[in-house]
Amino acid sequence: MEKLKALERVEDSLAKLPSVGKKSAERMAYAMLEMDDDDLNEFSDAVKSLKSSIHVCPICGNLTESSICDICGDSSRDKTLMMVVSYSKDLIAFEKAGSFHGLYHILGGTISVSKGKNIDDLSIPQLISRLKEGKISEVVIATNPTIDGETTALYLARVIEPMNIRVTRLAYGLPMGGNLDYADSLTLSKALEGRTKI
Ligand SMILES: [Zn+2]
Repeated sequence: MEKLKALERVEDSLAKLPSVGKKSAERMAYAMLEMDDDDLNEFSDAVKSLKSSIHVCPICGNLTESSICDICGDSSRDKTLMMVVSYSKDLIAFEKAGSFHGLYHILGGTISVSKGKNIDDLSIPQLISRLKEGKISEVVIATNPTIDGETTALYLARVIEPMNIRVTRLAYGLPMGGNLDYADSLTLSKALEGRTKI
């Protein structure tokens, strides 16, 4: 049977998404073909503008469509407390849990020997200059409970502690090797509550 190249092109793109296998991609592509022109145009416009509309908050590294993110711009947040996470999806998990009311800093990953990621690849200099402003009294390190996450936490603790800032680490009710963003809200809240000094 003739291969429909335009359909294949859409399928190949869809199959790059998480949890989308070849079969699902095929089903989705055919569903798109049956959509109204207006709906399909809206779909493609939304995808096209995704990257141009969203950028990184220059203060914390969170994703935003404004000049700074709504957490950095929220005057009701505790500006003496900061949580350091690896990715914005971890911030989203904590925001959903609703138990943290301080500021965040997103590293953009973890120090990883296996992936060749080192200190220079993360937003650690930005973190240090934020801390040097002197307003933060506690930094909660919320990297994943993995070897890379632990390495990053220990490195940060070593750098931050001499600045006379209390450095704490989440108390995990989480299995080692797990991902924060998969944890449920209660587990995250409990882990935050039971955080311990590094
Ligand atoms: Zn921000």
